[in-house]
Amino acid sequence: MIISLRRFSYDDLVGQLSKDDKIIIFTCNVCIKFCDIGGRTRAHQLAEKLRSDGYNVIREENIGAACILDLVEKRKTDAATAKAFEEATVILPLTCEDGFDNISYAFPNAKVISVTKTVGIGVFSTDKGMTLTVPFETTGLGINIDGYPLSEVAEKLGCYAGPYFDGNAKP
Ligand code: SF4
Repeated sequence: MIISLRRFSYDDLVGQLSKDDKIIIFTCNVCIKFCDIGGRTRAHQLAEKLRSDGYNVIREENIGAACILDLVEKRKTDAATAKAFEEATVILPLTCEDGFDNISYAFPNAKVISVTKTVGIGVFSTDKGMTLTVPFETTGLGINIDGYPLSEVAEKLGCYAGPYFDGNAKP
């Protein structure tokens, strides 16, 4: 699976938003869910946290895989989604960077904020959770068949692991 981390703390994230923004949280339900950043539940928790802080989240959009451009583009024409995407001023992709690229391409009129940093490929196990086994060269880490814990990778790269709604602490 593709491994991503959070780029920002929650405070850094809201620092890029305005109370006038119409926000869509767009997530896929595969790798990013196992990284504990995205997926239906984490997207909803972030939406509720933003709403409770006075931000206008107009839609929580769940997609099978945001790396499939056709699926993303379909949101522009589907009766259930077209209006919200036309109105949105900000989209927060809880996806990997591939998903971010597709969402940015499909919705050029919205401010699409890159909220995740994709760092390589990993595996999920029930005892260890998600770990990074094949890091991208840019991370400066070597291959590790036992897997690096995401909190360790996040600390090395100045990122954050775990969900956005949870606040600012680096786990
Ligand atoms: S967009 Fe990225 S996180 Fe979402 S399913 Fe595709 S590879 Fe996984």
